Amino acid sequence: MLKTETKLPTIPITEIEQSAFCTTDDELSSRTLDDEFAVGVRWQKLPIEYMRMKPEELDARIFEARARLGEMVVVLGHHYQRDEVIKFADFQGDSFKLSQFAASQENADHIVFCGVHFMAETADILSSPSQKVILPNLTAGCSMADMAQIDDVLDCWDDLEYVLGDNGGATPITYMNSTADIKALCGRNDGIVCTSSNAPATFDWAFGRGSRVLFLPDQHLGRNTGLKMGVDLDDMILWNPFKELGGNTEEDLVNAKVILWQGHCSVHTRFTVEQIEQAREKYPDVNVLVHPECTMEVVEAADYDGSTEYIKAKIADAPPGSVWAVGTEISLVNRLATQHPDKLVFCLDSVICPCSTMYRIHPAYVSWVLDGLNEGVVVNRIEVDEDTASEARVALDRMLSVV
Ligand code: SF4
Repeated sequence: MLKTETKLPTIPITEIEQSAFCTTDDELSSRTLDDEFAVGVRWQKLPIEYMRMKPEELDARIFEARARLGEMVVVLGHHYQRDEVIKFADFQGDSFKLSQFAASQENADHIVFCGVHFMAETADILSSPSQKVILPNLTAGCSMADMAQIDDVLDCWDDLEYVLGDNGGATPITYMNSTADIKALCGRNDGIVCTSSNAPATFDWAFGRGSRVLFLPDQHLGRNTGLKMGVDLDDMILWNPFKELGGNTEEDLVNAKVILWQGHCSVHTRFTVEQIEQAREKYPDVNVLVHPECTMEVVEAADYDGSTEYIKAKIADAPPGSVWAVGTEISLVNRLATQHPDKLVFCLDSVICPCSTMYRIHPAYVSWVLDGLNEGVVVNRIEVDEDTASEARVALDRMLSVV
């Protein structure tokens, strides 16, 4: 019997919030947490003294608390974090590099992860059992990860086994940007985790084992990777979790080589081909560099595409005077522009939209968790249960084997 059924889609709250911080101003100014709440967000509430602290007070307070904690704490900052948070990070990177770094910090009892929920989960899975991972704001999720809820994915998996059991099945590949539950599903079903850097290698790995892939949760990274690996667009189908059989027939599933979960990143799908055309009109020598979470049309129209680490390296290695229109999160683009004043680096989208979930790590939360640690209190600990963690670790280890 099929498990999936047609139901009404829900819009993740992160999607609704996405536009709340978009601005046409040149930069996102620092404000009190109380002021940030004024746009009607549903973030974790803090004691009132933290809500009202001015940016400069928070700065001084975090600096002092961080210094008192010394090596017993390590603060990690994702590239998409705002400047007033990332400046306190001991290490900056993408989600995978940060988790690897966390695992190597044996002296640190506490890992304060200035990123989003799935990243803190991965750090907990990869770090030692004695280390405690803290996410400063528990509502800092990821709209893409929210689009693949484990119950929907389990129903999908059951239906794929039912329909494809005698037809070669499917190898599950999940992008790092997914919950621990989904990584665990991949671990126990001969699947693998991928990053935006090694997605092509994981496709190779999966097609070396079977004839079909289920890719979660980002349809765009999955589609762009499939095309790079020579899979025909017609051989890739979409799985809509709100429809029976994902909106497909049994024949569609049998004929498909790649089944793409219908998820996307709210930040990277804002970039358009028209923006690329406008950038080329204004700067004929412009290099267009985008992240593979952008749509297929945008990736095809761009000159280069790759992970955040690739984007950083590409601009660092570029000659002085070169011009770069970048399609990724604004905090990183602004930072690259500041770090490379000899090059012109700007965001493809003239409306400045931060990743609204990364943006939830306001300095007030960082101050609150560090103050707690100085008083011996651990708040906002992210803990993955050992059964889930051990299955997820299998899929993460496979990923490492194909990097
Ligand atoms: S940029 Fe996109 S994929 Fe990354 S954390 Fe934000 S919403 Fe999630």
